Amino acid sequence: MQKEKIASLIDEIARMPEMKDVPREQIEATVNEIVGKLSLQPNEIREVVLNRLAPQKEIGGEPVNLSRLRAGMRNVSVMGKILFVSDGPLKMKDGSEKRVLKGLITDNTKKLNFVVWNPEKYPGIIEKGAVLSFKNIYTTEWQGEPQINTSEVTEITSVSEDQLPNVRLGTPVKIKDLPGVRFPVTLSARVISVEKKTVKVGDEEKILFTGILADETGHVHFTAWKDFNLKEDEVVKINGAYKKIWKDMHSVVLDEKTTVERLDSSKLPPATQLLAPKEVLIEDIYEEGEGFMSNVQIEGFLIEVKETSGLVYRCADCGMVLDKGMCKTHGKVKESRTDLRIKGVVDDGTGAIIAIFPQEVCEKLLGKGVGDYISLVGKNGVVNPALWDINERLLGRAFNLRGNVSTGEFGTTFLVKDAQNLQIDCKAEAESLLSEMEV
Ligand SMILES: [Zn+2]
Repeated sequence: MQKEKIASLIDEIARMPEMKDVPREQIEATVNEIVGKLSLQPNEIREVVLNRLAPQKEIGGEPVNLSRLRAGMRNVSVMGKILFVSDGPLKMKDGSEKRVLKGLITDNTKKLNFVVWNPEKYPGIIEKGAVLSFKNIYTTEWQGEPQINTSEVTEITSVSEDQLPNVRLGTPVKIKDLPGVRFPVTLSARVISVEKKTVKVGDEEKILFTGILADETGHVHFTAWKDFNLKEDEVVKINGAYKKIWKDMHSVVLDEKTTVERLDSSKLPPATQLLAPKEVLIEDIYEEGEGFMSNVQIEGFLIEVKETSGLVYRCADCGMVLDKGMCKTHGKVKESRTDLRIKGVVDDGTGAIIAIFPQEVCEKLLGKGVGDYISLVGKNGVVNPALWDINERLLGRAFNLRGNVSTGEFGTTFLVKDAQNLQIDCKAEAESLLSEMEV
């Protein structure tokens, strides 16, 4: 380090309010000593000097969660379990070697690197698996994360694991990869919407929060069983959530053990960009392979409509579409629920995919509701008037489909959320022409 740089660093440190009672010569001597021994950045040198010389205000305060540590903190206390430790010499600038312990520690809120610069002070306690309290550490920055450092005043003692925060860490994951990972998961996402709800769990009324989270790869529904004070449009890092299937979709669940960190809004694109459907070719869907794609858009022809389309009857227990009154799981069922759907094949020239159009999309495309079709059952000998209508009016036409792709035990399926008929519906057109002429 250049002389002028050292001098300006000494000036800077001497001007800090914490150092107002410390003689300048002492600051100078300490800085020179550190520069001579260690290869540190100016900000790291400042931390070491402050830690050594500034009056200790708060010795051994309450431990801070590792997720709340920032680079440049002093006299803080932390606790954690040692995940890994290496004991080895560190080469000093003057060619000498110094023994230090380096490792990784977690308190369930975060994993951070630590360096014990004076291991001889703590013989035999810093080992893999040990749960320790570190009083009076200081932090520096290493690869964008805070690093824990010990100094002469640091005290390290063993503590019980029960004293660590009762939270969990998760596997870092992008939303599109949710189906393939084991929970718990950790994800960074923008809060697209959040809504407070009251639900009954047994006899108890519970408040929960539901909404949508999005990242660059997709969006996902979430449920929070605790108020994390989530605000629309903020970017958060959710640690230790678990996932479940909700309405045939993967969903993220936040509970008492989940923690939420606020991130800078610039970490993710704006909501409008995150929510825009991604146009894909059916070929791309298969190339993507196993997994789940949310919010994608395809354009193609409905080339086939399966017989299990139109009015269908679902098992009241499991929701499976019945085949001649039989459920695959429950056999002959007494109770069933009537639904309207299309199960068909869509082809865009690059490939073909099974697409499921749910009731609301069918009603929009056909202009008739489930009730309308139920009242037509049996008229003119037609058992499934909705299927007849679908074959007549939608089969062979081109559609723009928005939805999600899921790959499961029934193969790859496009679950339609919204559909637009790209061709003029001749019958509807003719009817509206006629009505115009009548006017
Ligand atoms: Zn069933």
